[in-house]
This record gives sequence, C-alpha cells and structure tokens, in this order.
Amino acid sequence: MVVSAKDKACGSCGASIVWATSDKGHAMPLDPEPDGDGNVAVTEALEGRYFRVLRDGEKPVDGEVRMFSHFMSCPFADRHRRPRRRSQPALDFGTPLWLLPRRPAGSVAS
Ligand SMILES: [Zn+2]
Repeated sequence: MVVSAKDKACGSCGASIVWATSDKGHAMPLDPEPDGDGNVAVTEALEGRYFRVLRDGEKPVDGEVRMFSHFMSCPFADRHRRPRRRSQPALDFGTPLWLLPRRPAGSVAS
C-alpha cells in the first residue's frame, strides 16, 4: 500500500489521519490513535490496513483495533462526506405556458 504525503493529514482540518480500506475497496480516513469507543474495527495486514464499521453493540474480534473514523471528529466532515439531503420538492411555478393545452384554432368565440 503506497502512502503518499497527503495521507498523513486531513486536508480540511490538518489533523493527522491514517487511511484504511474496506473490503469493498472504499478508503476512509481514521483518527490515528486507537480508541476503545471507536466506531470502526481496523485490521493491520501485510498488504494494508482494513476497516469495517461496527454496528451498535458489536465488538471487534481478535486482531482488530477500535478506531474512530475521522469523519466522526473532523470539524469539517461535511466537506468530506456529501450529506445525503432529503430530495427537495421541485419548485412549482405552475404548468409552464408551453405545456398548457393550446386552444384549438378557430374555437375563439366570435
Ligand atoms: Zn479533518
């Protein structure tokens, strides 16, 4: 696993971070210090560092270390993770004029 310089600090808040990869290949920044309350379980392997997100009440197994996702502590987490906004209802300006049924020619009252 190649670690580039940018992998050592959060680009938003400057905190040191480490990167881990999920089994699906998604990379996630983690706070570098293990934390007993961490929300992910991290495994160090020869080929890299892997994480899985722990569910409520789930405990890491042997060989896993609890760490926090940096998303949990970063003051600028919103910049990393695009918040899933509720889809906004489309603005309703009424039916556009060009979609209104045209009055058939010749029907204009004389
Ligand atoms: Zn940060």
